[in-house]
Amino acid sequence: MVKVENTKSIAMSDSIINLDHGDPTAYEEYWRKIGDRCTVTIRGCDLMSYFSDVNNLCWFLEPELAEAIKELHGAVGNAATEDRYIVVGTGSTQLCQAAVHALSLLAGGTEPVSVVAAAPYYSTYVEETTYVRSGMYKWEGDAWRFDKKGPFIELVTSPNNPDGTIRETVVNRPDDEEAKVIHDFAYYWPHYTPITHCQDHDIMLFTFSKITGHAGSRIGWALVKDKEVAKKMVEYIIVNSIGVSKESQVRSAKILKVLKETCTSETENFFEYGREMMKNRWERLREVVKESDFTLPKYPEGYCNFFGKTLESYPDVTVGVFHVLTQAFAWLGTKEETDLVNDLRRQKVMSRAGERCGSDKKHVRVSMLSREDVFNVFLERLANMKLIKSIDL
Ligand code: PMP
Repeated sequence: MVKVENTKSIAMSDSIINLDHGDPTAYEEYWRKIGDRCTVTIRGCDLMSYFSDVNNLCWFLEPELAEAIKELHGAVGNAATEDRYIVVGTGSTQLCQAAVHALSLLAGGTEPVSVVAAAPYYSTYVEETTYVRSGMYKWEGDAWRFDKKGPFIELVTSPNNPDGTIRETVVNRPDDEEAKVIHDFAYYWPHYTPITHCQDHDIMLFTFSKITGHAGSRIGWALVKDKEVAKKMVEYIIVNSIGVSKESQVRSAKILKVLKETCTSETENFFEYGREMMKNRWERLREVVKESDFTLPKYPEGYCNFFGKTLESYPDVTVGVFHVLTQAFAWLGTKEETDLVNDLRRQKVMSRAGERCGSDKKHVRVSMLSREDVFNVFLERLANMKLIKSIDL
């Protein structure tokens, strides 16, 4: 019987490896080395109230988390936090739904507001906008094909999940009051992509899960310009879960603070560590894919303001300043007319079908964020598929 991989010590030879989910366990090693500096002690009498700060519009947001978020964005330079509301959520999954709800409610029409994202898109958007069968909004699929009149929300993910491209809106109806955008910046961090400028959009979503790898804490935040939108998002979260776990917020605040401190360290910079690890994985993956029927997207190099700044103390300031995208997912394709998700499954590799992301059978999304041993097995099996293919021919 085959076993599903879910523990560190599992024998890899015959196990199914699950690279369908983007479970970010790759960073465990780094945090293990950081040791007790991220340890939080919570006594039985702590954090008992529903409330965190009654003077804040988002009254369930722990002030120390708000502070840590602002400081981190300031240090990385990836998003503006001034003059906007921070709304905390149980992951950015909850916040995305809160934002869609808020914008649809404020649109005030009788017809459902259309929700679109350019294919290939993050497949969870489909479930998020269809599962509860809301009458207020309707998933309309691929933004590239969208031409309906009336209010709509475009979800823009940049770098994009699943294919890592840098994205902007594609519907583009300037001056249309009914056009709303939610920017999902889950991967706009220096270990995944060059930080080319400070983002400054109306609604920006971030997730703790993909920055440090602490997906289990279930913390995300939204930076929101408009007070009414922020209020409606907060209302949604109140109805949905009466706030967000304080234990999770306090732990996240602590880790984000340590993360910010390491940003200027020559030996402990988390982003540098993460980027090196991802770069190494991408190089090895490209090596396997080279001269095979598999395909991977090519990404342009970019000047990273963050590394440009933090590496200034190095003798060679050009090291690491330019870097390519080292996306959290590989958007693996094949030149063959085949169902790639099934081909991989036969090799005991689970991946996300391209069709779920609004694409085709010839593409799959593979997580690059697994533990090292799982990633190595994946490469082995992929290399085997290449070998089997060439023997077939
Ligand atoms: N947006 C994108 C683009 C993601 O990839 C993910 C995580 N897979 C999320 C949102 C959700 O993150 P969270 O764990 O904070 O709910």
